[in-house]
Amino acid sequence: MTPPVGTALAGYYVAEGRRSGARSTHDDLHAKALVFEHDGITAAVITSDLIAIPADVTSTVRAIVKEQTGIPDHCVMITASHNHSGPALSPPLRADLIAGLVAAAVREMRPARFAVGIGTCAINVNRRKRRPDGSWFGLPFLGQNFEGPVDHTVTVLRFERDDGSRAVLINYPCHAVVLGPNLEVSADYPGATQRFVEAYFGAGTLALFTNGAEGDINPIVHPGPFAEADRLGCILGAEVVKVAEQLTPRPVQRVAAAHGAVSLPVASSPPLEEEARLLAAWEARCRTLRASLSPDAVLDEEMSWTTAQLRHLRRRRFGTAATAEVQYIAIDDAVLASVAGELFTVLGQQVRASSPFAHTVLVGLANDSVGYIPPRSCFQEGGFEIEATPLEPGAGEKLRDAMISGLRALG
Ligand SMILES: [Zn+2]
Repeated sequence: MTPPVGTALAGYYVAEGRRSGARSTHDDLHAKALVFEHDGITAAVITSDLIAIPADVTSTVRAIVKEQTGIPDHCVMITASHNHSGPALSPPLRADLIAGLVAAAVREMRPARFAVGIGTCAINVNRRKRRPDGSWFGLPFLGQNFEGPVDHTVTVLRFERDDGSRAVLINYPCHAVVLGPNLEVSADYPGATQRFVEAYFGAGTLALFTNGAEGDINPIVHPGPFAEADRLGCILGAEVVKVAEQLTPRPVQRVAAAHGAVSLPVASSPPLEEEARLLAAWEARCRTLRASLSPDAVLDEEMSWTTAQLRHLRRRRFGTAATAEVQYIAIDDAVLASVAGELFTVLGQQVRASSPFAHTVLVGLANDSVGYIPPRSCFQEGGFEIEATPLEPGAGEKLRDAMISGLRALG
C-alpha cells in the first residue's frame, strides 16, 4: 500500500516540509491479514503500516468482508502501526483492497497450531517530560522521561501450519516515530521488525505488527536517521524471534470474539465557536511570524497551534461524547483487546492486571481513533497529549473499566 511520491504524509501536521508531500520511498508499506478458525468461529486481524484506521474505512471493510466471507463485524479487527512516515488518510484508503486480503486469506486457510509468549525489549520510553523552565516538550519532538511509566512487554503469537509455513503476530507499545517528520515514505521501526522476523524464518512466513497502549510512549531515538529505525526495529525483531523460537505450537482449543462501544465524555469548554475564533487568530499569528522571524520560532508557534487544532477537529466530530469501539478476539488463553484510540501505558497495564486471560494483549489504534486516552492524573499535570485530546478527565478510567468487564464476560 505504498503511496505515490507527492502524497501528503501523516502526523506532525503542519511541520516544516510536510506541506510538500512525500519526495521518495525509502521502504514499502504493507497491509496484511491473518485469519483463523476453530469450531465454526472465524476471526480476521488486519494490520497496516498506517497512522490510524478511519471509522468509515472500518465499516466499509467489514461490510465487504461479511459479504465475501460471512465473517461478522465483531470478528474483524483492523489495526494500524501508528506509522508517522506513511500517507495522511485523505483521500480515503481503498477499503475494497484491504477487505480483499481477508477473502484471499480465507481461501488459503490450512490446519495450524498456535502458541503465545512474551519477551521484553527496552527500545521504548515514556515521552512526557518538562524542559528545565517547566514547559512541556510538544510537537514535533517529545521528551524522554526514563523515570516515567513504561511497558517493555513484547507479545508474540505464533501460528504454525502443518505445511511448515507460519504467521507471527507481534505486539509492542511504542509510537512509530523514530524518523520524525522526514519526507520519505517508510514503515519506520515496525517495518524493520517485520522484515527482520520474515527474513529470519524465511519463505512462507508472514510477520504482522500491532501497536499497544502507546499513548505516552515513544522510541528511545526520536528523531533519528533510517539506520536508527532499522537498528531499533531489529533489536525488537531479535526479541520476537527469541520468543517465537521457544514456543511449541499446539492444536487450538478455542476462538471467541466480541466487540462493544464505550461512550467517553468530550470537553465542553471553551464553546466550539469560541475555540474556532481563537484558532483563526492563532493561524493569522503564524502567518505573520513566517514572514518575519527565524523558522524555529515559527515552528514552535505552529506546533502549539496544530495541537489545539487537532483537539478542536476531534471535539467538532464527536460533540458531547466520543464513541470508542473496544474489541476482543480470544484464541486459547490469549486475547487481543483493542481500543479505537491511544491508550496510556498505566491504563493498559491495569486492564491486563485485571483480565482473566493469561495473555491480555492491548492493541491500540484499532478500527478508529478517538485520540489520546490519558488517566486522570495526567490531566492534572497537563502536557502535549492533554492539550491534544478531546476527552474529559475520567474518560480513561471509564474505558479501562469497560474493557475489564468485557474481558471478564468473554473469559
Ligand atoms: Zn500518537
